[in-house]
Amino acid sequence: MFNKPYAPIEQVNLPEFSNAGINVFIKREDLAHPFVSGNKMRKLKYYFQDAAANGKNTIVTFGGAYSNHLLATAAACAKMGFISYGFVRGEPVKNYMLSLCKIFGMHLFFVERNTYKTDKINFAKSKIHDIENCYFIDEGGQGELGEKGVAEIIEDLSQNYNHIFCSVGTGSTMLGLLQRVEKNNYQTKIHGVPVLKGYDDKELLKTFDKSLYEWHDGFHFGGYAKIDKQLTQFVSYFATNTGILLDYVYEGKMFYALTSLAKQGYFKNGESVLALHNGGLIGMLDMMKASY
Ligand SMILES: *Cc1c(COP(=O)(O)O)cnc(C)c1O
Repeated sequence: MFNKPYAPIEQVNLPEFSNAGINVFIKREDLAHPFVSGNKMRKLKYYFQDAAANGKNTIVTFGGAYSNHLLATAAACAKMGFISYGFVRGEPVKNYMLSLCKIFGMHLFFVERNTYKTDKINFAKSKIHDIENCYFIDEGGQGELGEKGVAEIIEDLSQNYNHIFCSVGTGSTMLGLLQRVEKNNYQTKIHGVPVLKGYDDKELLKTFDKSLYEWHDGFHFGGYAKIDKQLTQFVSYFATNTGILLDYVYEGKMFYALTSLAKQGYFKNGESVLALHNGGLIGMLDMMKASY
């Protein structure tokens, strides 16, 4: 399921972009799979390979109660024939995301926040009998193998873009893109839009030359999963005028940033921009209940 994900590129025609004289394209990584969408599909590829190569039959992973990564892992494990365990941060809750994880057969455990922060691996080990068959994947699929999978997005491109935009959660997507652009010496600038408040790029990106990337703080709308009317109205505007739905947590904020920058004259006339749509749409169902 991980080879050559279906992720076509479409042009996004909005007046904000034509007025700025730029061509904006969206890479529909969200279309790769309804539940293993976008960068989660890319990140899981090499973890699953590594698990199989090491003779493991069980995947254990971690995430918040609305984690796209948990759902992606649950669905991918079902498809690939792995047993799956998900350890969820915080007090027990019920939501659509976790219900879907269960439907895909994931064994779910809630972990009190402090334990989650300091000792989640040991907590997980205490709950699983057959620990020698377990393969652990970190929260959000972050880590070297995840980045290696994401880097293949760059490999799939058949033309050069002046700019590539992605939203930033753990940052491993941006890292993967940057690694490949640096290695292949591509003339493309990678733009990260952090969706968390006070997220500093210095630690994350310290090994990269500043000329390779741009960090657009100031579009987090108050923090992770925080939304307001301006954002939800933008997502509606975008969906109405392009037929493409963006999630509120990540890609809505990223495209809001890209559109604002275009309006401010940030780009040069004639430049091309590619933005990644990494899915996350199922998680919107829970948020829409809250915002209507
Ligand atoms: C996980 C996720 C991201 C963030 O990716 P990171 O590699 O953690 O920075 C962005 N968009 C969507 C839809 C996601 O599910």
